[in-house]
Amino acid sequence: MTSLKALGGTSDILPDQARRWQRLEESARRLMDLYGYEEIRTPLIEEASVFTRSLGDAAEIVTKQMYLFEDRGGRRVALRPEGTASVVRAFVEHGLDKTAGLARFYYVGPMFRAERPQAGRRRQFHQLGVEVFGSMSPYQDAEVVELLMHLLEKWGIQGAVLRLNNLGCQQDRPKMLEELKKYFAQDYNNLCPDCQQRLKVNPLRILDCKEEKCRLVSQGSMASSKWLCPSCQEHFQQVMKVLDALGIDCEWDQYLVRGLDYYTKTAFEVIHPGLGAQNALGGGGRYDDLVEALGGLPTPAVGFAVGLERILMALEEKEAGSSELSPRPSVFVAPIGEASLSEGLKLLGALRAAGIPGVMDYEARPLKRQLEQANKLGCRVVLMLGDVERDKKIVLLKDMASGAQIEAPQDVWLETLQKILKPVS
Ligand code: AMP
Repeated sequence: MTSLKALGGTSDILPDQARRWQRLEESARRLMDLYGYEEIRTPLIEEASVFTRSLGDAAEIVTKQMYLFEDRGGRRVALRPEGTASVVRAFVEHGLDKTAGLARFYYVGPMFRAERPQAGRRRQFHQLGVEVFGSMSPYQDAEVVELLMHLLEKWGIQGAVLRLNNLGCQQDRPKMLEELKKYFAQDYNNLCPDCQQRLKVNPLRILDCKEEKCRLVSQGSMASSKWLCPSCQEHFQQVMKVLDALGIDCEWDQYLVRGLDYYTKTAFEVIHPGLGAQNALGGGGRYDDLVEALGGLPTPAVGFAVGLERILMALEEKEAGSSELSPRPSVFVAPIGEASLSEGLKLLGALRAAGIPGVMDYEARPLKRQLEQANKLGCRVVLMLGDVERDKKIVLLKDMASGAQIEAPQDVWLETLQKILKPVS
């Protein structure tokens, strides 16, 4: 019988790796608390229209990448390909558009996109994102960007590059699309087939194309931002000014559009040059019209999402060989013979009560085998207890680093152990 495997583009996270994930998430949660962002958890599965209405029918995520199916009740449902649409749906569904005033959320969890798997591109991947509702202020855009940069710094990411662009508001969009259409129509034959299609549906996305020939054509297309209204221009300048005041380096990239249709005004992206083809760590922007588009009151909003697999990839080299990443149970309880199992259990309970991580062998294997096992697990100390020790009213402690064996009287074994475990200063 053939053995079963995880689906392509999905991965198991085994304990060694799970430890890295926990560290990432824990430090992120601490930072979110510090900035006053609260966690929101939404379902992984939604009515498909949550995404088609938010991201736009023409967005590649919707047309090519969304896991879409009919459930048993005949409803069209989708696995969430991103977090923002669900958070907005929840925000409106719970009437927060009417009551919340300013609301700052964050989420962490898996997203699903049917992409061709490759390094840094998975079908199930994880994002941490933030969404802020109720502020039009450029200071809020800057806070969100600053939070992303702070997060990367906390995680130890170095060399990340931040790029920003101004995409204008809904009033600016028709003019912008019309000008881009005119511009690209002149060079129609030099565009890739996908971009020829994009020209009909959404010429803005041509700016995002990775094909060299399309990039060449794009150059010059945004040379003037004349279609942007004064208020959008002013907003963008303010964002840049605040970021400058916060000491955050960034580049204005006129060709940055991001993959989703809902962005207005500020859009940004952070890349990591060391990551190869899939080098975007995260990105986001303002989406002032989305809450209303999903049936809520007009509510300005801004957010970002960062891909956790890519963060871990970027950190991989730095972490290589770091033992700090895999703290192991520090104590191994090795009962010698069946008769000592229940006493072993008592020792184990006492360890845990004292907050010392410990494991025990319940099979009453020969001591030599138990010591091998303790060694494999990287335990610092082995507690040994058999008939001899019981008669002598002691517990035998083996310091695995030095090999020394200490006979500790039964009433002070825990203190003796704690002395061995104490880090040498
Ligand atoms: P997006 O929602 O497309 O703006 O993506 C935000 C971030 O999520 C990206 O910068 C990546 O770090 C990550 N990401 C997006 N798609 C994938 C994927 N298929 N596999 C792994 N990470 C991804």
